[in-house]
Amino acid sequence: MPPKPCSSKIIKEADELRRTLNRHNRLYYVLAKPEISDAGYDRLFRRLKDLEAEYPQLVDPDSPTQRVGGEPIPGFKSVRHADPMLSLENTYSEDELEEWDERVRRALPDEEVSYSVELKIDGVAVALRYGGRRFIQGATRGDGDAGDDVTANLMTLRSLPLTLDCPAPEKEIVIRGEIFLPRKAFLVWNEKRAAAGEKVFANPRNAAAGSLKLLDPRLTAQRPLAIFLYSADRNTANGLKTQSALLTALLSWGLPVNPYHSHCRNLKDVMKFSRKWQERRHALPYEIDGLVVKVESVDQQRRLGSTSKSPRWAIAFKYSAVQARTRLEAIKVQVGRTGVLTPVALLKPVQLAGSIISRASLHNEEDIERKDIREGDCVIIEKAGEVIPQVVGPVLAERSGSEKKFQMPGQCPICHSRVIKLTDEVAWRCVNPGCAAQVKGRVLHFAQRTAMDIEGLGESLVEQLVDKGLVKDYGDIYNLSLEKLVPLERMAMKSAENLLQGIEASKHRTLGCLIFALGIPLVGERAAEILAAAFTELSALVSASDEELQNLPEIGPKAAASLSGFFQSEETQAILHKLYQSGVNVKRLPEEVRERGKLSGRTFVFTGELEGFTRGQAEARVKALGGRASGSISAQTDYVVTGSAPGSKLDKARKLGVEVLGEEAFRQMIEE
Ligand code: NAD
Repeated sequence: MPPKPCSSKIIKEADELRRTLNRHNRLYYVLAKPEISDAGYDRLFRRLKDLEAEYPQLVDPDSPTQRVGGEPIPGFKSVRHADPMLSLENTYSEDELEEWDERVRRALPDEEVSYSVELKIDGVAVALRYGGRRFIQGATRGDGDAGDDVTANLMTLRSLPLTLDCPAPEKEIVIRGEIFLPRKAFLVWNEKRAAAGEKVFANPRNAAAGSLKLLDPRLTAQRPLAIFLYSADRNTANGLKTQSALLTALLSWGLPVNPYHSHCRNLKDVMKFSRKWQERRHALPYEIDGLVVKVESVDQQRRLGSTSKSPRWAIAFKYSAVQARTRLEAIKVQVGRTGVLTPVALLKPVQLAGSIISRASLHNEEDIERKDIREGDCVIIEKAGEVIPQVVGPVLAERSGSEKKFQMPGQCPICHSRVIKLTDEVAWRCVNPGCAAQVKGRVLHFAQRTAMDIEGLGESLVEQLVDKGLVKDYGDIYNLSLEKLVPLERMAMKSAENLLQGIEASKHRTLGCLIFALGIPLVGERAAEILAAAFTELSALVSASDEELQNLPEIGPKAAASLSGFFQSEETQAILHKLYQSGVNVKRLPEEVRERGKLSGRTFVFTGELEGFTRGQAEARVKALGGRASGSISAQTDYVVTGSAPGSKLDKARKLGVEVLGEEAFRQMIEE
């Protein structure tokens, strides 16, 4: 039968959809900066698929419906996959899941079919190659046929074993899984980015994708990425009869496997599992965006085969994003401790995924403009990646005309100083370090639990202390007394005494806590620990050169410049003077040494060719464990690791009495 004729209007719509979807693919896969929600993308995708089904003459091999993922990224070596890494067919509807089940059963007449159901981890797919038990290479999915070589970045994952706990397989094996960023790490990371005036990630998935695509593994090492493995290539799966058996095998080889999966005999059981996880998913420490339903029998999987884009034996059953509608009453501009101005939506309170939401992040001015969000709008809000409520966009049909366009204030809303936008930043900043909002932010940061842990010094008290001029910077905390505290509102004698005790106790925190508490831009908890490992006291850090700082693991040029700038400023020197005077501990405590990464404080030099690692991989691993990798031997070197055909470094090591390790001893040391 000839295909149904297709009007120019339809041709135009399909064309437009292809262009739009290709643009979003690039934003999502290559840049990790999507502009629309996954559900929004899936709706556009579905419309194009429906048009192509109705008018087959519209299908072209370049259509996003025929292709997997995105193009490779410049800067990474391209890796060809032995078996293509496909996408999954997906659906949000129970009816469509039933249709898929019927299709599967029709293709396997008179056979028993059951399903392995797993959580669909919302992350980034990777393929890991192991040769003779050892990790050799890791790659992203890319366009399905070829992806990017991200081995050095994957080596920084602490949960990824470098050697499998199984008899050495004859052939190389390829195992697939999902890299993700746990929710909490995502929130902490985003806060740091916001404070540094950088763009925040919309959700943990994008943060994971962005982290995996960094060209400097030292930066990737700072982000606590994690991984779950869930499949293997044909060669590896050989001999394993079911998907459940494969998961058990992966686990027994020492690979992280998500513990929540179920063998379901029919769709009714699948739905039961789905409903259970729909409720519980918010309690998981990582994001899932649905379930993956897979035919349990490996033989049946093989016979069902794949289309060019996805296997016929699996489907993603996705959970819809939780959304609500409400009125955006006003947009308030907040000023953070680093002076960054952040617009926040004040909403008419509304229930969303089990909590009442009255505020939502608006990220920055550009975002508000792009989405055309106005004060007074009826808006759709959504929990982005189930964590932070965000405004998806206005409901245009509800506009009355009285809505007000937002404009970033030309001056700081708190202290009325000038605001500036630095060239490579999206955020506006208040230039006045004495701005009350910044001072309050810095004092709260200093006193928080993971910093100086000052009990009783919370938000409302800090407000009063700063507004009354009793505290102009965190150094003044140590000058507080009963006479100053008791006249404050809601301050009983007992609370004042307790607070002073809390302040006294904070003088004995570790050096790492103190460095973090100082609030140096780009120096988070982990960087503070690394600095405390490298310097025995604060004064040594204050006078460290840029080069010394950059030589430390995970401290890049930007953080080094930030540290130097911070310590050189007169204000900092005045505050540090107050801290020294009041007797705050400024030295590394003995217990700190034990707490850090197991290689911290140790320097490694490599010579010769290693069998199981490239030089870059071995160095990345050392750095991820807190150690230092250096190119030359000195009296400061702790270990020289030798491979085959070692160079003159080995002689030098012997002369200097530096401990020499073979590859196996090195491997044991990092895997212990
Ligand atoms: P997908 O994310 O819908 O599903 C396939 C992926 O699920 C696999 O590649 C694998 O990485 C992952 N997965 C997680 N847990 C798994 C498990 N237990 N077993 C097997 N696989 C598991 O498909 P995709 O091709 O990666 O991406 C397409 C989707 O990405 C779209 O449907 C859309 O939701 C989203 N997307 C969004 C935008 C946007 O702009 N918002 C743009 C492009 C794509």
